[in-house]
Amino acid sequence: MSRAATVSIETPRFTIQGSSRAGVESWYRVKELGVALDIGRCPDNLIGVSKIVLTHAHIDHAAGLPYYASQRKLQRLDPGTVFVPAASLGGFRELIAAHERLENTTYAINLVGIAPGEEIELRRDLVLRAHAASHPIPANAYEFIERRSRLRAELRGLAPTEIERRRASGEEVSEPTEASILFYTGDTDRQIFESCDEIFRSEVLLIECSFTWDDDRERAKRYSHIHIDDIAGVADRFRNKLIVLTHFSLRDAREEIEREVRSKLPASLMERVHFVL
Ligand SMILES: [Zn+2]
Ligand SMILES: [Zn+2]
Repeated sequence: MSRAATVSIETPRFTIQGSSRAGVESWYRVKELGVALDIGRCPDNLIGVSKIVLTHAHIDHAAGLPYYASQRKLQRLDPGTVFVPAASLGGFRELIAAHERLENTTYAINLVGIAPGEEIELRRDLVLRAHAASHPIPANAYEFIERRSRLRAELRGLAPTEIERRRASGEEVSEPTEASILFYTGDTDRQIFESCDEIFRSEVLLIECSFTWDDDRERAKRYSHIHIDDIAGVADRFRNKLIVLTHFSLRDAREEIEREVRSKLPASLMERVHFVL
């Protein structure tokens, strides 16, 4: 049986590199945004990433955390910042503290709790917003929002000298713009489709789809994961330019998964679908 392969997906604004199979490991690196989404077992290429966004504490998403913290110190890198669900912050702190005690050292890591509805400014032009996922333990979905400013609509067409004159006289000539550029569900069940409309509007959606076979519908419900039928059921709501399906069960072979997905999704959705498999 094959383990998880590393894949690279080009989107108009950034490249998503990553690897994901349910119960094995899940991690993605988005270089242009300066972040990793989940850490899996911490492959070497994530050690240099200074911001890690963890969706939840399940071991296939978070096992690499102590290793990351320890390697940042060993390689004399600045302390890494790791965002975790606020409800799990205490547990993650205990985990790191236990490893520090065992190794009789300190690590280079800042753990930051973030609750659903909260925002954190990652850069001047980039905001991280947490949403509630639906999973047996505290779990966040994350949305990345690009914030820019542009010339106010009513001033467009004016001569640059006139705009400069107005700016100099104290007039506000620009207005903020906001674009949701990436939404990552982490692990969740289909309840997120009812609780979070942003999932359908972000330019790129990275969404878990653990199960594809008809006889796995019960399993998806029991373990709070998404089945391809759940996605098919809301197919007409996706406004995303690109949809990346991920976190498939390791029991299913790549060709079988692609065939099942193709048979369940309408062509209008399928033409925007990529796989992390
Ligand atoms: Zn998982
Ligand atoms: Zn999970």
